Amino acid sequence: MARVVFLGGLGRSGTTLVERLLGELPGVRALGEVVHLWQRDVRDDERCGCGSRFSGCAFWRRVGQEAFGGWHTVDVDRVHALRDAVERTRHIPRLATAAEAPDEVHEYARFYARVYAAAATVSGAEVVVDSSKHSALAHVLRWAGDIDLRVVHVVRDARGVAYSWTKRVARPETDGADEMTRYSPGRSAMLWNAHNAAFGLLAKRGVAVHRVRYEELLASPRSELLKIGDFAGLRLLPSDLDFLGDGYADLGVGHSAAGNPMRFTVGRLQLRRDDAWVTSLPAKQRRLVGAVCAPMLRAYGYPLLKEETR
Ligand SMILES: [Zn+2]
Repeated sequence: MARVVFLGGLGRSGTTLVERLLGELPGVRALGEVVHLWQRDVRDDERCGCGSRFSGCAFWRRVGQEAFGGWHTVDVDRVHALRDAVERTRHIPRLATAAEAPDEVHEYARFYARVYAAAATVSGAEVVVDSSKHSALAHVLRWAGDIDLRVVHVVRDARGVAYSWTKRVARPETDGADEMTRYSPGRSAMLWNAHNAAFGLLAKRGVAVHRVRYEELLASPRSELLKIGDFAGLRLLPSDLDFLGDGYADLGVGHSAAGNPMRFTVGRLQLRRDDAWVTSLPAKQRRLVGAVCAPMLRAYGYPLLKEETR
């Protein structure tokens, strides 16, 4: 049974950073955002984290062979139809309360379970990491009988997340042809509440969920990473974290199939908390996000100014 660490949280919360750090640990293979693999890789042949086109990456070729007898046999339209039918935020209440899930949920989850099992076999890793983030997918995977699912829920201050969503970011895997999505602060504040609440609900349904705060991770990467390692059932030695230095991480080549541009970083990555929002997010938007997200910000231990709670 494949042991899967699913990295969840709203985008721009630091999931890619957590994925890159986890991917450096012995016994771990980070796969990127598997939710996007079907379209961006199997169909569009975008770049793997190793720099090769998906079809040219030996690791993913072997995974496709092992999982499906080759990626060409995968019915991507069927995967998308299943995703549209079951993997939607509005379906989470039903997924979380039903005594049994519809067949489509099981069928959709099976595509992922086969990728995870094959990736574990091909890499020899004890743990595979899927950084798909989507809370609805985590709720679907709860119904996969044949994976050992452990969810790492990455939370970042909603105001930092909101500011990040307002910035323009190119997607290098499309050679500059495309930009990452942007959201208004009001929109991202609503999404922040919904997605983070969904991971709380997952924990209530008995799924193993470990919460990591982005800010704490960057304040003490070594101890936070050791805690995640424990949660993932890895028996880490202090020397396994030697790729972490004072304020940096030395990263090797990964095979992340899709996700944030940071998946292409090789070599020294500065580990610095991005607090640009404190000075750059306009006060009005900061108050809006603070007010919309106040209850959960407080629950997660984030400080709020008085005027941000009204
Ligand atoms: Zn690769």
